[in-house]
Amino acid sequence: MAGLTKEKILDALKSIEFEGGDNIVDRGLVSEVVIANGKVYFALDAGNEDPQKLEPYCRKAEDVVGALDDVSSVGVTITAERQKSNGSQANGHANGQANGESKSQAGGGPQGGGGQQAAAGQAIPGVRHVIAVASGKGGVGKSTTSVNIAMGLKAQGLNVGILDADVYGPSMPRLLGLNEEPQTGPNNEIIALEAYGVKVMSMGFMVAEGTPVVWRGPMVMSALGQMINQVTWAPLDVLVIDMPPGTGDVQLTIAQQTPLSGAVIVSTPQDLALIDARKGINMFAQVNIPILGLVENMSYFLCPSCGERSDIFGHGGAKEEALKIGADFLGQIPLHMDIRETSDAGRPIVASNPESAEAQAYLEIAAKIWASLDSQGEDTRVAAPKIVIE
Ligand code: ADP
Repeated sequence: MAGLTKEKILDALKSIEFEGGDNIVDRGLVSEVVIANGKVYFALDAGNEDPQKLEPYCRKAEDVVGALDDVSSVGVTITAERQKSNGSQANGHANGQANGESKSQAGGGPQGGGGQQAAAGQAIPGVRHVIAVASGKGGVGKSTTSVNIAMGLKAQGLNVGILDADVYGPSMPRLLGLNEEPQTGPNNEIIALEAYGVKVMSMGFMVAEGTPVVWRGPMVMSALGQMINQVTWAPLDVLVIDMPPGTGDVQLTIAQQTPLSGAVIVSTPQDLALIDARKGINMFAQVNIPILGLVENMSYFLCPSCGERSDIFGHGGAKEEALKIGADFLGQIPLHMDIRETSDAGRPIVASNPESAEAQAYLEIAAKIWASLDSQGEDTRVAAPKIVIE
């Protein structure tokens, strides 16, 4: 595998002629190339042009790169500058502001959608609800909360998946004790891994630990597009997306391009974290995605020996904040050693010790989330804006 380099891939891609006598590389259509354990990912950028025009090149690029030695699979995505909406999209208006600079993903890779253009904003076939778990900053326990909410939904008898969208610092391999590389199926679909009956996908499964990967915005979207559209998720009642921490462009783009039923915001009680949480809420509001509610993590301390509760951070901030913005308050999770230990050991507490008080706190939150999703019915999902294809 050592023989496979970015240069070899670009050289191979240079054999694909583009109209006007150029090739697709020299024309500047090929994005950053990412190689991960024999899997190759890159995007073809349509710029302001019609992204459909690039479809045949996308297929050729797959063939050419797929024929190289040491390549086990190829994922090619088309990105394009978002065109001005004609107002036909339900929430095109709300997205107007963000449209200017954001790239939008036009194809989830032709192989994933059976030759169909599968825009990331379209509903994922066979997935009833997609929810995002987000936080305004890192370290508040967002990933721990995501995984335990997913386990809590599973405990309700639902089919659940979890997508680790933090390509910079994936945590699902650690939280679920998984480190295998996903297999690909006959149609190049990526077969989701499974832990405690929950389907899981993370960039951490593709990239060897400690391997530095330089991600540019469009690359991140391309990789995420594949993890959303090319993975064998169906059938699922809920896909939980563990969002990257913070509220930058990548987060906004995911929020815009994924058909989200709603978002859960995780915060710690400290005021500082709540200011960040507010940013998270505003980000989803900007793209018209309902806030399913706030979770206050590390809310209070349960003494492991006597069971006494201490509000070491002065809990309750998230509840007040939820009330202020009219969002639901989903519940409080104690600061507890067992939560940290089970997380680090790849055995989320809801799956490994469901009877514990800590697990019960997550289970209650999961039940509230499901009640809220179920009351939305099937067809009230906020359709994310789609790329405009003339
Ligand atoms: P984030 O995704 O927000 O960066 P993580 O979920 O990775 O945060 O959590 C950060 C650290 O805090 C981890 O070591 C995790 O085990 C720990 N942690 C999260 N929630 C709790 C909790 N309620 N009690 C104790 N430790 C927690």
